[in-house]
Amino acid sequence: MDNYQIADNFSLLSKLMDVHKENSFKSKSYSIAARNIDKLQVQLEGLAHEKIFSFPGIGEAIGKKIIEMLETGKIKVLEELIQKTPAGVLEMLQIKGLGPKKISVIWNDMGIENMGELLYACHENRLLTYTGFGEKTQNNIIEAIGFYQQKQGHYLYAQVEELAGQLQKHLVKISGVKNIFITGAFNRQEETIDELEYIISSSADTIKQKLRAHPEFLFNLELPGELLYKYDDRIKVRLFCINDENPAEKLFFTTGATPFLEAFKKEHSIMIFEKNEDELSFFHRAKLQFIPACLRENDLILQKAKNGGIKKLIEPKDIKGIIHSHSNWSDGVNTLEELAKGCIDKGFEYLVISDHSKAAFYANGLSEEKIIEQHELIATLNKKYAPFKIFKSIESDILNDGNLDYGNDLLSAFDLVIASVHSNLKMNEEKAMMRLLKAIENPYTTILGHMTGRLLLSRKGFPVDHLKLIDACAANDVVIELNAHPRRLDMRWQWIQHAFEKGVLISIDPDAHSIPEFENIKYGVLAAQKGMVSKENNLSSFTLEKFEKFLSDRKTKKGI
Ligand SMILES: [Zn+2]
Ligand SMILES: [Zn+2]
Repeated sequence: MDNYQIADNFSLLSKLMDVHKENSFKSKSYSIAARNIDKLQVQLEGLAHEKIFSFPGIGEAIGKKIIEMLETGKIKVLEELIQKTPAGVLEMLQIKGLGPKKISVIWNDMGIENMGELLYACHENRLLTYTGFGEKTQNNIIEAIGFYQQKQGHYLYAQVEELAGQLQKHLVKISGVKNIFITGAFNRQEETIDELEYIISSSADTIKQKLRAHPEFLFNLELPGELLYKYDDRIKVRLFCINDENPAEKLFFTTGATPFLEAFKKEHSIMIFEKNEDELSFFHRAKLQFIPACLRENDLILQKAKNGGIKKLIEPKDIKGIIHSHSNWSDGVNTLEELAKGCIDKGFEYLVISDHSKAAFYANGLSEEKIIEQHELIATLNKKYAPFKIFKSIESDILNDGNLDYGNDLLSAFDLVIASVHSNLKMNEEKAMMRLLKAIENPYTTILGHMTGRLLLSRKGFPVDHLKLIDACAANDVVIELNAHPRRLDMRWQWIQHAFEKGVLISIDPDAHSIPEFENIKYGVLAAQKGMVSKENNLSSFTLEKFEKFLSDRKTKKGI
């Protein structure tokens, strides 16, 4: 064990003691020891014990720990502290500019256990209510976490989207090859991306040669016809180099996920691309409806394509209203009027304002009085901006016992209610299902918000029985949200078809906390396309008239 490792251990020990609010005098002495050992000119390993104790700053306690490390490879107290610390909290120590004392507050007082939760809490301004956490700290944390996650090579689709396009142009410029196509997971609109893949009509040798002059492309590996790079010390880039092959053929065989391609090859073993043939003609010859790239995940889609069962997929322009948005009445940025004008500017017909309910105190959840006040303002604005309409709603917390956050009197004052779980997320399936089913059965629940609470790349979401939840939504006329925040995309697209079979509508909702976040809709639509959503089965694609009728019919049916 060299001095650096010894110093690192002391440094971690000091930080973890602070995280666990242990003796701050001791923790400080370990941190000083780490700095001193780091600077020592001689290696401690191999020295006689007395010699170790003779260095300035190495007293009895520190010296003993150094010997323990040299003899056993570890320190017991440090091991114990690591054991007691959730992995996500340990990971937080990697965030630049976030010290252990702040991490201690984040973990112990805010109940946040990993970076994803922390990032989300920052976005929802939850940190600001704690002393020592200003807006500046919050913004620094957001930036530092983004940087850290990108270093790990995992990206949300939304984070990599712009880069994918820029890289394509960059490659065209460097290689002089015009026809460069993006393929693979990005082409299938996967929710998260670990690698960008391109097809280039050129030989691997030529491309390799040309990229040599560009240090931002760090060469990694060569496979037959494929080059692997790390771009800008961030994301993996795979280049499929083709010479005389038909690019459409390569695109087909690199876009589809393995289960899809295997099923295709099994059924259409004799099908090969003709020279210069495009995908449209290829599907046509295979007697299949054209299968958009985003749907090429598995074998089931082939059956649909054979029967002409693929309907026109929803597009961002099919969204007619903003459902699920927060104003500065709770934790959003804009005023109600700004949000309304923002919608009108962008051509939306209506806005569903759904601020947080009172249990979400960290997000300025609305008291009963505030709600009445807000409803008066909505009435005024609706007069001013007619025929545009703001609908009165709330994102009601689903409480621990499954109840909504207000009494029926107040709930009946809303045009619709979005019910979501925001607290006590660590539940087993039984508890999660009890809460969700009770909320779904509440006649005032119109939409079930972000069904599993998952956060992509960071939090799995609570365990639920999707089949049961969908059945319950069908039985109670509850719409399931497809939360379009690129970090949520919850419900997962894989369950959408099942929801449709049961007659359940979905709603692509931006969960916007500001006007620019209306754009989240796009990511919801991309995920919805993977679930084969067409505009007919998405609530936020309803026109104002149809949406109003939907709400009033539902209220009549429920007798509320
Ligand atoms: Zn929410
Ligand atoms: Zn929300």
